[in-house]
Amino acid sequence: MGAALEIRNLHVSVEDQPILRGVDLIVKQGEVHALMGPNGSGKSTLANTLMGHPAYEITAGQIIFDGVDVIELEPDERSRMGLFMAFQYPVAIPGVTVANFLRNAINARRKEENPEDKGIPIPAFRKLMIEKMDMLQMDHSFGGRYLNDGFSGGEKKRAEILQMAVLEPKIAIMDETDSGLDIDALRIVSEGVNRLSGPELGVLVITHYQRILNYIKPQFVHIMLDGRIVESGGPDLALHLEEQGYDWLREKQNGNGER
Ligand code: ADP
Ligand code: MG
Repeated sequence: MGAALEIRNLHVSVEDQPILRGVDLIVKQGEVHALMGPNGSGKSTLANTLMGHPAYEITAGQIIFDGVDVIELEPDERSRMGLFMAFQYPVAIPGVTVANFLRNAINARRKEENPEDKGIPIPAFRKLMIEKMDMLQMDHSFGGRYLNDGFSGGEKKRAEILQMAVLEPKIAIMDETDSGLDIDALRIVSEGVNRLSGPELGVLVITHYQRILNYIKPQFVHIMLDGRIVESGGPDLALHLEEQGYDWLREKQNGNGER
């Protein structure tokens, strides 16, 4: 049986402010999920919490990955278990190329598995990079770029997708760029996910862009509103959002509240 990421009744506060208020979600290997919702609904808070970002305080609930409660685990421990998070701190790293960064990431993992490991030999690494870049139809020069130095939203996503291709996680979480509506970035993430997805990979793509179905074909669509998943369904749910926006969900929520 494949691995699953199970989020149960997750409550998260940021600076003592409750943001997530009971999130339940299960993503299994081989599945593609889209998490949608308006700005400020808590999508990135969920992504950051899953990654183990220290600013996000879990006040209740569980995060189970591959049968293990990972709440107490460090981000790199989660990563080694096969939970993918893009660059933990997506800042520019002066003097570090995309290729160097990826080689370090691979070597850290190898060393963890075998303390005697001397690192992946350069020719093997080069072959791996080229294979993955070709699979993603990326220009080979991308590996020589300095990581995130002057990267556009789309280029940051390209680097994340390449990182994901090289690390071969079981479950990957892809959050949209901080700049919000960035169609180029969403297109790059979607194409990457489409190329990499298969029975070994589960993906949670996070966006507030309602026309996501033009780019990606998720089997499951979830909508977050005010720190909760208020609706889950198939691709038709994203279509419905494209036509109706989020208002009908807000009205439905308010209706529920009055009853
Ligand atoms: P989304 O990704 O859906 O746009 P966020 O998770 O970024 O939503 O934000 C949800 C709420 O949590 C917002 O009110 C935001 O101001 C707050 N929030 C998120 N992260 C932080 C943070 N690191 N510090 C302070 N407030 C935060
Ligand atoms: Mg966000």
